[in-house]
Amino acid sequence: MPKPEVLILSPNRPDQMAQLDTLYTLHRLDLAKDPAALLAEVAPRIRAVVTTGGRGITAAEIAALPALEIVATSSVGTDAIDLAACKARGIAVTNTPDVLTDDVADMALGLILMTRRRLVDGHAYVASGDWAQKGPFPLTSALKGKKVGILGLGRIGQAIADRCLPFGLQIGYTARSAKANDFQFFETPEALASWSDIFVAATPGGADTKHLVSAKVIEAIGPNGTFINIARGSVVDEAALIDALKGGRLGSAGLDVFASEPKADPALTQLPNVSLSPHHASGTVETRDAMAQLVVDNLAAHFAGAALLTPVL
Ligand code: NAP
Repeated sequence: MPKPEVLILSPNRPDQMAQLDTLYTLHRLDLAKDPAALLAEVAPRIRAVVTTGGRGITAAEIAALPALEIVATSSVGTDAIDLAACKARGIAVTNTPDVLTDDVADMALGLILMTRRRLVDGHAYVASGDWAQKGPFPLTSALKGKKVGILGLGRIGQAIADRCLPFGLQIGYTARSAKANDFQFFETPEALASWSDIFVAATPGGADTKHLVSAKVIEAIGPNGTFINIARGSVVDEAALIDALKGGRLGSAGLDVFASEPKADPALTQLPNVSLSPHHASGTVETRDAMAQLVVDNLAAHFAGAALLTPVL
């Protein structure tokens, strides 16, 4: 039996790439000098695609792969995958939930501390010699007792809440539906933002959540408030965010994700009240290995005719 042929749109970790290489005939579109020529040659035989959250797969690419049976993404987010096109063709889709939850929640807490306690500015103050020249660093704001509003109380949102409690933070949230917990539920992002000192976006990206953090929501977080985004750049109206940060109508922001990645809007890189991270919330060796292994295991289940481990479709 010939090995199934798999198209790599974006690579996995080395060990898992080696496993895939043993089990399948891999075609590296990610490395191809002439991607169109490679596709023209192999497209009719491709049965599986391996991709990532940032790369996804478009409707046109799906249409070009007539034998495609499964798309396995190394991400929990599927906003860059044309799910409607997959569904219409009966193509299975798998993602990597749970294994990345702790790291992403850790990053949210890291960004809260980095932004509210001005950790990067403090580092620069010591490194530049300003401390010796100008005296003590300005006072910052305590976390204890502040209100954290979480937009999207799913796996990651809940893990963020779990980490906020030992810091003495109060938790409020909004989601599509209220959950059975003791946290205060708000019907709309705007109502949640008016209550919050720190507002954290933890929803999926895509059309359903586009600009859910609108100009009104941003202004409701307010001049002493902080916006944290570990969700997707599309969830916030980034132009309104920049405008509010520049005008002092929003106090500060801590961002792991951006409307245009990997080139963040230069306005964000120049603002003093913004902390930045290069979409790296799941970026640890342990988590990326676990995500990559789920891709391998989902493909193995598919080609064995077994139940998928983490199906989206
Ligand atoms: P999840 O368990 O599915 O949770 C998503 C939450 O968002 C749910 O509470 C859901 O509400 C809520 N939600 C969805 N649509 C909404 C809407 N229109 N309005 C309000 N709330 C809405 O997903 P997860 O595992 O926590 O992951 C969440 C997202 O984090 C991913 O999709 C991805 O975009 C992002 N992420 C980012 C990174 C990074 O590196 N920065 C890494 C991993 C994930 P219900 O519970 O009511 O359905």
